[in-house]
Amino acid sequence: MNVIAELQVPPLFKDGQAIACPVCGQDDDLTLIIDSQDFSETAALLRCDDAHQWAEPRVPRRIGAELLAIRARERPDLIDWSEAQRL
Ligand SMILES: [Zn+2]
Repeated sequence: MNVIAELQVPPLFKDGQAIACPVCGQDDDLTLIIDSQDFSETAALLRCDDAHQWAEPRVPRRIGAELLAIRARERPDLIDWSEAQRL
């Protein structure tokens, strides 16, 4: 089953640099848009609180899928399924 879910993630760093919104610079509480079955190295989609959305090449989609699998197992209450849709 393919599920699209949105997960708020803690600040992400790559090579000591915070991953931030390219438009407004927000770098905490970013929302990761996850396809539960996409374990590829394709750039993941991120969104900030101002609804800017972008593909972040430093965050592969596999990270989101792995994160979602762990959360679904351990803390399903932390996942916002309201935005989720089955494909
Ligand atoms: Zn932004």
